[in-house]
This record gives sequence, C-alpha cells and structure tokens, in this order.
Amino acid sequence: MSSDEEKAFLENETKLDEDFPPNEIHFCIAMDYEDLDKKVSDKKEILIVQKYTCYCYDDYPRQSNYFRITDNKPITNRRVIEVLRDNNFDPKCNHRFLECIYKKNDDPLSIEYEMFLGS
Ligand SMILES: [Zn+2]
Repeated sequence: MSSDEEKAFLENETKLDEDFPPNEIHFCIAMDYEDLDKKVSDKKEILIVQKYTCYCYDDYPRQSNYFRITDNKPITNRRVIEVLRDNNFDPKCNHRFLECIYKKNDDPLSIEYEMFLGS
C-alpha cells in the first residue's frame, strides 16, 4: 500500500468506527464508508439470511439464521448493519468481515438477501 492508500484506508476505518464503534458490534464492516448509505432494496421489508456455509461450520452444521429488516424508506447497508448490531449478530467464526449484502436470486418477489462475510 502506498502512503496515500494507507491514509485513505485509515480515514475510512475511522469514519466507520465513529458510526459503528467496534465495541458495539461483534463483526467488522469491510465496506467503503460512502457505501453505508447505498441502497440495498426498495422493499419495505427484507430478510437477511446467514447461511453458515463457510468451512468453519463444516463439522458443525447449523440451520440458517434470519434477520428481518424493515424501514419506511429504501433499505440501505447502514440500516442492515443497525439491525445486525441491535440483534447482537456475531458470526462466531473466521468470517467476520461484512463485505456486502446481495440478492441471491432474480425472483422480483423474493425478499431474501444474503450477506457476504469474508475472513
Ligand atoms: Zn467461517
């Protein structure tokens, strides 16, 4: 990393930490600060599915976990993170870096979204 890149990285981390202090969440936000307010969905209600399909759970299969997200305006990454925080979301494995929220299927009626958790 060049020193400019390092500076930008640290600035991004500082802004994320101000909005979501690390002692208040049990996961890490690996997003650009600007992306926090990016729209995830136009729907008023979505479900975020945590699938436990990473290798950490190979020997400990678990059923998917669902988080219900609602808002009276388009749902953003920030809103999702707030709900995850308020539900004490904790991946309890090596994959604790929340990189993005995405819709897995093309069904326009589906309200299921998934989170990408990196290590
Ligand atoms: Zn894992």
